[in-house]
Parts: sequence; C-alpha cells; structure tokens
Amino acid sequence: MTLARRVIGATAASTGGSLDTREDLAAAIGRTPLIRLRHASDLTGCRIYGKAEFANPGGSIKDRTALGLLLDAERSGALRPGGTIVEGTAGNTGIGLALLGASRGYRTIITMPATQSREKIDALRVTGAEVHLVPAVAYADPGHYAHTARRLAEAMNAREPGSAWFANQFDNTANRDFHEATTGPEIWEQLGGEVDGFVCASGTGGTLAGVGRALKARNPKVRIALADPAGSALAAYVATGELKAEGSSISEGIGSSRVTANFADAPIDLAWSIPDTESVPLVHALIAAEGLNVGGSSGVNLAGAIRLAQALGRGHTIVTVLADAGTRYQAKLFNPAFLRGKGLPVPDWLDRAFPQDA
Ligand code: PMP
Repeated sequence: MTLARRVIGATAASTGGSLDTREDLAAAIGRTPLIRLRHASDLTGCRIYGKAEFANPGGSIKDRTALGLLLDAERSGALRPGGTIVEGTAGNTGIGLALLGASRGYRTIITMPATQSREKIDALRVTGAEVHLVPAVAYADPGHYAHTARRLAEAMNAREPGSAWFANQFDNTANRDFHEATTGPEIWEQLGGEVDGFVCASGTGGTLAGVGRALKARNPKVRIALADPAGSALAAYVATGELKAEGSSISEGIGSSRVTANFADAPIDLAWSIPDTESVPLVHALIAAEGLNVGGSSGVNLAGAIRLAQALGRGHTIVTVLADAGTRYQAKLFNPAFLRGKGLPVPDWLDRAFPQDA
C-alpha cells in the first residue's frame, strides 16, 4: 500500500467516513462533513460541530438551495430544457445556480447588490452567467435585486412564453423543503440522533426552517435557535413579534428586514442579535487555532452556537453551519485596513501577514 493510500484510508477511518464516487455536479452537492470545533467545545463544555458546507462544489451551503429549487422547477416544468434561470442573490445562490446551469444546459442571469464581495462577483462571472449589479436598496424599493430579477424573467416570458424561470429563493419553499430532506437528516444521521441543539443565521430562512423542522420531527426536544447579525430585524421579531433592526454588520448573505415564506415556518425556540465585535473575532480564531477558513456568516453562527451551549449547559451536543469559505471575503474579513475602518479588532498575526495594509 502506498503512503498516500494509507493516509487517506486512515483519515476516512478516523472520521468514520467513507470515500465515494459521484456522477455529476448535482450528485456532488451535500453529504458534507461535520467538524468538531475544538475551542468552542472546550470553552463551553459542550460538543459543538460545524457542518462544513464550504465543501460543496460551488463553495457554499447555497448549492443545496440552488439544487432544491432547480429540481423542483424541472419537475413542475417551470424550467424547460435549454431555458434561462433568473435569480436575485447575495451571490452564493447565484454561484450554485450558474454552476448547475452550466452542468445541465441552462443559461443563467443573476442580479445582485453591488456591495457584495468582489470575490463572489468574479466567481459568478467565470461560470458564464450574465451578472447585473444593482444598488443595495431596501426590499420595499422596486430597484431591489429580487424585484429586478423577477421583472427580467417576466419580460423574457412576455417575449417568449416559458423561456425564463425566476428561482425566487426567498419565498419559494422548495428551498426549505430541500434542507428538510437533506441537510437536517444528514445531521441527525451523522450524530446518530445525539443532537440537542441547532443554530444558524437566516438569509432566506431555508436552512434554519428546513433543518429545524427535520430535527424537531425526529426529536421535539431539540432546541432550534436563530443567530441574527446586527442590522437584521429577525431576532426582535422572534422575541416580540415586531420587525425591528439596530446597527449594521459586515457579514453577507444573512439577516432580513422581513419575514420570508421560508422563514415563516421555522420552529425557533431562542434568538440572539450578534454584533460583529463578537462574530468577526470568532472567524479569526477559527482560522488561527483550528485551520478553518470560513466567511462572516459562520462567525455569527459560531457565536450563536456558543450562546446556545451556554443556555443549555455543559454536556450537550450542538450543531451549526460553516456556510462558506473566508477566501470569498479576503478583501474584507482578512484586510487589516478594512477591519480597522469598521472599528473591528485586528489580530496581531493578521497585521504581520499583511504589513502593507496595517
Ligand atoms: N451564509 C451565507 C454565506 C449565505 O450566502 C447565506 C444565504 N444567502 C446564508 C448563510 C443563509 O442561508 P439561508 O438563505 O438558508 O437562510
């Protein structure tokens, strides 16, 4: 046996995993590892796991959303062979849809706010997708990226009926249903049902509602929690029924000013608003101490996992989501000048790594 083969074998065996072969891009989405987060676990006396969604082929949890929406549209006939996918996105859902579009013979048109990271915009452009950057405005404004996408699809369908499909990730509950059918059951199976709590942020709400419903269906005692970034109105909504937001966050793809159809049915027990001063240092700690390079939403999720562990007490098992990789936000999350400009702490090692930016 070669050394490489022995190492791969040992790694698979030590994680209880198995090596497999998948037929195409769609089949390579999902069945991601759970990684025990050592520092958060030691800190709280709980077992805290991150579901490594950055390991999906498009680099984020939104590959699942894209696949769930697409399979539903293919089944219903809303998306026809050779048709055009149209979607408004903070970026990750667009990347998933565009890659699936390339793999399955669809054209893809994406609208997104111009404030999103350059890395995500570039990742979209290399898929061949047509990218429309629009100003970042409130949902009530007709210029919002989701309304822009809907209008683009309507105009195409007016010219050529049935030519375009608006994926509508926020209010199309095929999003939540796919998480309920895949992400949630995977977590349950990976832990042999030994899970006490699940926590994550909400963008569309698909992950939180889908995983929450899947876990509660298997054990109603599982606690489901929302970790909401500053500037989002959802934590206040869960606590008081009133949509109220304070502050802002550098995280992308999470938080909301409204209750989407996907969020509406999330079985939430607890909710916290998480400031960047709490979440961004956790992103830095994950790479520095555990070698996990994750994006800003994963920092909000981990902050939520620590709070949930503290609420439940020692000895519990808690799962959260590592939604995408920090490489997607290099120029923000790991840029000393950007962080200082936002009043956020900069670890010494980051200053040393980028002395020209300090
Ligand atoms: N994290 C990242 C990085 C995302 O892009 C998104 C979705 N835009 C989320 C978390 C939130 O997931 P969901 O839409 O399922 O609520």
